[in-house]
Amino acid sequence: MIKIRTNLLNPISPDKVQLLKDYTLGYENGIIKLIRPYDPNQDADGEQALDSVLIPGLIDLHTHLSQYWVRASYQPSLLPWLSQHIFPAEAKSKDPDYAQRVSNAFFQALFASGTTTAVIYTAPFKQACEIALETALHLGARALIGMTMMDTNSPPYLEQQTVQALDDSFELFERYNTRDSRIGYIFSPRFALSCSADLMKQTADFAHRHDAYIQSHISENKDEVAQVKELFGKRSYTQVYEDFGLLGSKTIMGHAIHLSGEEIDILARTNTAIAHCPESNFFLKSGEFPFAALLDKSLRIGLASDVAAGNSLSMWQQAKFASYRQSSLSLSPQRLFWHLTLGAAEALGWQERIGSLQPGKEADLCQIKLNALHALDEQLLSKLIYQSDEFRISKTIIQGNTVFQS
Ligand SMILES: [Zn+2]
Repeated sequence: MIKIRTNLLNPISPDKVQLLKDYTLGYENGIIKLIRPYDPNQDADGEQALDSVLIPGLIDLHTHLSQYWVRASYQPSLLPWLSQHIFPAEAKSKDPDYAQRVSNAFFQALFASGTTTAVIYTAPFKQACEIALETALHLGARALIGMTMMDTNSPPYLEQQTVQALDDSFELFERYNTRDSRIGYIFSPRFALSCSADLMKQTADFAHRHDAYIQSHISENKDEVAQVKELFGKRSYTQVYEDFGLLGSKTIMGHAIHLSGEEIDILARTNTAIAHCPESNFFLKSGEFPFAALLDKSLRIGLASDVAAGNSLSMWQQAKFASYRQSSLSLSPQRLFWHLTLGAAEALGWQERIGSLQPGKEADLCQIKLNALHALDEQLLSKLIYQSDEFRISKTIIQGNTVFQS
């Protein structure tokens, strides 16, 4: 068994985080086996890391691997940003060498950020998605990964044939969804504006038959919302997705900003999970996430980087921006931490496996080095969120394997 003598920060609920000083955490075969106060008679053989704090690995609920190298491309509005910067950047992943290089760089940066689980879109090319999946397997990532699907209203160099987009996605699902316990496939229709009714419906039918995950974007930008309503002639954006069968407990919708009460009720009734992408929402001037209204309906919410509209894979930064993004709602450090860890695990339905430090759960861990300025007191979590650039992530562990060390 590998033991670490250290301090632990552990999420218990949206309002409660435990700080356990001078504890030993032990793990074996990828599973946490023990957590107890340091006992010199039993634990002297462990790694000494009292100058650190150990937390559950962070979870990023929505990010775009193929956009990793075009972060910070300025254009403060969604639809022009997509056409000017993002679509040409995603086209580069048609080249397998590029797709391999960006996959390597992305996962290394992800691990260096202390993120152990990510829900990922790749470019609309089967081979690029395959390369991302193989790289994730090779490097030991925990991820849901999907090929972005877009079969209409898209630049010709990205637009897929409907049948091909479906067949490629089904094939990737069959090959990768159960190959490794850490990796799953997620069906990824980009958003209603670039997907035909046929594509959305067939994707939903297949995903429900196979109990598979689905991700997409919803109500990010007012122009987008207006175009979706006009194109589909439905009452709302959410209604479009509901009518095609895309909502449900294994669906993660990114953004969810401009929603009516009726739409929030649909998302709650279908138990759809929400990825909140606060830095992205600032960057593209998309609007303010209706945090209070969604919490009021008990929606499952996780935070997300949404690279490349989010400029950093740091989930601490996303927590800080989530707090700043709210004009009047106050989000406690405990609640923000919840949406980076156990709350995000719940959004995935993985709360029994990951998201907190507990014997029996998988050993997904992030070790953070403290210095003389960082007292082990009730302000530590707040400092991690608001002063994250003053801390150093020293180790990232996924299912007991060290994937990053500094
Ligand atoms: Zn996105």
